[in-house]
Amino acid sequence: MIEIRNAVIITNSDTGDVIKNAVVQVANGKIAYAGAAEHAPDFEAQRVIDAHGNIVMPGFVNMHTHVPMNLFRSYADDLDLMTWLNTRIFPAEDRLTEESAYWASMAAMCELAASGTVAFNEMYFFIDSIAKAAQESGLRAFLSRAVVTPAPGVGERMLDESEELFHKYDGKGRLRVFMSPHAQYTVENSMLEKIAEKAKKLGTGVHMHISETRGEHENCVQEQGMTPIELCKSVGLLDVPFYAAHCVWVSEHDMELMAEHGGTVLSCPKSNLKLASGIAPLSKMMEKGISVTFGTDGASSNNKLSMMEEMTYASFLQKGTTYDPKVMPAVQALKMATRGGAEALGLESGVIEAGKNADIIMLRTDGIRYTPDYDPVSLVVYAGSDADVCMTMVGGDIIYENGTFSFADIDEVKAKIAEYAEDMKRI
Ligand SMILES: [Zn+2]
Repeated sequence: MIEIRNAVIITNSDTGDVIKNAVVQVANGKIAYAGAAEHAPDFEAQRVIDAHGNIVMPGFVNMHTHVPMNLFRSYADDLDLMTWLNTRIFPAEDRLTEESAYWASMAAMCELAASGTVAFNEMYFFIDSIAKAAQESGLRAFLSRAVVTPAPGVGERMLDESEELFHKYDGKGRLRVFMSPHAQYTVENSMLEKIAEKAKKLGTGVHMHISETRGEHENCVQEQGMTPIELCKSVGLLDVPFYAAHCVWVSEHDMELMAEHGGTVLSCPKSNLKLASGIAPLSKMMEKGISVTFGTDGASSNNKLSMMEEMTYASFLQKGTTYDPKVMPAVQALKMATRGGAEALGLESGVIEAGKNADIIMLRTDGIRYTPDYDPVSLVVYAGSDADVCMTMVGGDIIYENGTFSFADIDEVKAKIAEYAEDMKRI
């Protein structure tokens, strides 16, 4: 039972209400009341937080992550995707252990919580380590074991593992489990088909990298006579909830297929820029009715897990590439980074209103960048930064507040990461 008083609420509601001098009451993990102070019901709060005019809003939903890659931040930069993967990342990943993956994930949990993220959609391996870190953190996590088919039998083993992980973690606390073909260029068609069948059987979704680079897209057309998304449709992957990371290189037909089948695009604008993959045509996708959300990708290709930056970049990139400043306004970018992801994942959050999960964050507004305050949404999207986040609450639990984590000793996490990084330096 927590009551936040004297807040400015960005509700994210359909009408886009911003409520000043507001109160948020939280009970049993949910928002019991959110609105004007004068209408707030009596409430037996165990803790009262005076927001001092700070902004309270829905937390961010990071739709595409590889959290153990926090260990590879600044390890390999300024390379194209394939060189980066083959010469740097794959050899480094060979050195990961359950323990180092856990601590790297824990570092990511701290970064996510401290930058206002309440849920993340993960694709990697070492899922037990990631699940452990996620459960300890309290963040909502959608986990998927990436399946690849480099040699006969390997993909099958990974798919079996995916199913075991599904039974082990799906629905446990705040965890859900998806199936995951890593990408079209790393997975054989027959395995893509098996993964679609498995997801259908288990009643879960599929998380996959799609058309990230021009080369990947064009090779697929040349070798298979279809684009990656057309191929996904042909093997049944669009018949399950489909979470497609990147979609930088997509045809008109690809976009029509995604719209028709209700697929969700997980756009990672900063990662696509850093790896020089390109700029996804998000405004066009949205015109066609596709659900477009944001992710950061891993800390080695971004290099931050900052949803605040993703929404700002996305908005500016769409304006810049369409020559239209009206495209992706602040209110829309903020919704995509929060409510958009929540709805795509089926979370009862993303809006500050009674009955929703209390997945909410608070942003300090006493800094110079929040002055003057004509439009709080504009301030967050165009002038805000991760450093403004002073509280992150998931399901009514405060997991981060003013530099302190409820689940981790940040000095211990940093020391562990430094220790494992020494091993990586020896490659
Ligand atoms: Zn990725």
